[in-house]
Amino acid sequence: MSSVLDRIEAVEPKTRALLYVHDRGELLDEASAIDAARSSGDPLGPIAGVPVVIKDNIATKGIPTTAASRILSRFAPPYDATAVERLRAAGGVIVGKANMDEFAMGSSNENSAFVAARNPWDLARVPGGSSGGSAAAVAAGEAVLSLGSDTGGSVRQPSGFCGVVGVKPTYGRVSRYGLIAFASSLDQIGPVSRDVEGAAALLGAVAGEDPRDSTTGVEPVPDYLSELEGGCSGFTLGVPEEYFSEGLSPDVESAVRGAIDVLAAAGANVRSISLPHAEHGISAYYVVADAEASSNLARYDGIKYDQRACGHRDLFDTYCATRSEGFGREVKRRIMLGTYALSAGYRDEWYLKAQKVRALIAADFARAFDEVDAVVGPTSPTRAFEVGARIDDPIQMYLADVYTTHANLAGIAAISVPCDPGDGGLPVGFQIMVDKFQESAMFRIARAYERAAGLGRGVPEL
Ligand code: GLN
Repeated sequence: MSSVLDRIEAVEPKTRALLYVHDRGELLDEASAIDAARSSGDPLGPIAGVPVVIKDNIATKGIPTTAASRILSRFAPPYDATAVERLRAAGGVIVGKANMDEFAMGSSNENSAFVAARNPWDLARVPGGSSGGSAAAVAAGEAVLSLGSDTGGSVRQPSGFCGVVGVKPTYGRVSRYGLIAFASSLDQIGPVSRDVEGAAALLGAVAGEDPRDSTTGVEPVPDYLSELEGGCSGFTLGVPEEYFSEGLSPDVESAVRGAIDVLAAAGANVRSISLPHAEHGISAYYVVADAEASSNLARYDGIKYDQRACGHRDLFDTYCATRSEGFGREVKRRIMLGTYALSAGYRDEWYLKAQKVRALIAADFARAFDEVDAVVGPTSPTRAFEVGARIDDPIQMYLADVYTTHANLAGIAAISVPCDPGDGGLPVGFQIMVDKFQESAMFRIARAYERAAGLGRGVPEL
């Protein structure tokens, strides 16, 4: 705990990974209590004493939970999210809240209403988004584990950019109770960690059915850790030809092909597959996600929560002024696009069509999983880009999600593990996707890769 707190003090002015840090004295007391319990042989949870940061769109009782938005800048929820409650019960200690893109909308963290987090491997570059603070904090040694959220890639893409492990669990594997909703049919809470074991331990601690989220699955949560070292021989990996085409930067391609070779040498079978509707992922995702966002964000009206514009004549003016002042540019863009896609006369052409495309993409994966155990490829088409490079070009920003939205649209699970770019440069993410509730196999394959390739790159100097 003290090493993490010292590290936060030393590097936080550079990384800006955190929006809130808990009181040092209280955290050290909590850590001492766990030490004492450990010495007296009391039973301890699987992550007892591990310092964790929580993305700021996940409710923490009495602790600010802003979603990096001005409209929630003074909001502290009266309850813990289910994932937070379970994390605490497993012994995790919450050190702080992680920076993010406002309402989890973005791929660079530059949409945070407060400050943009930076990539700890190169402070001139973005950490990715929207869980950029989670990935930057874990990469920089400001936390050991983090919980992020992934609607279209927001755990995996920043994890890839920052050289750490990130998981988007199966839709329904982790309760969304207490997660500030962005797009409810896509959102999942997922772990960020330095190694595969950390992610497996954290997912095991927070996953499982929850009566407060009716979309959670009843499937029992396997002991991911006991199966972790099972190796990858006997598994068949599918390499989608559509993932290795235009737009993929050559250095990322060679790193990812190298990772696939490592798994083949470790005993996995590798074959080429096709996901014929893959190219429509981004278009379908941005219609479905924005439509759901426009509906979810209607609740921020200045009456029910936190921030309210004062001095207006009537309710309508108060709503307008609150929302105009409270939401940032990207959030407004999404609300407008989503409202349009749902409006009378346009709904069939946009929202319903996107839902049909979503079903086709899910069917592509269902067909693939009849033949392979996992689909493997890059997490993102490029490495971390420079701060400012894409912020004025939303299409370029959205293209960062070209390989990650599929898992959300199909409801399947996926992990990003760091793979060696071979040139000593910025990290590259290698993505392993599995069918619903097959996280055990996903962790085994990821661990087999990590064991064969060697653990990442340590912690940056800063
Ligand atoms: N970058 C994507 C978006 O902006 C994904 C965000 C997310 O997964 N929360 O919508």
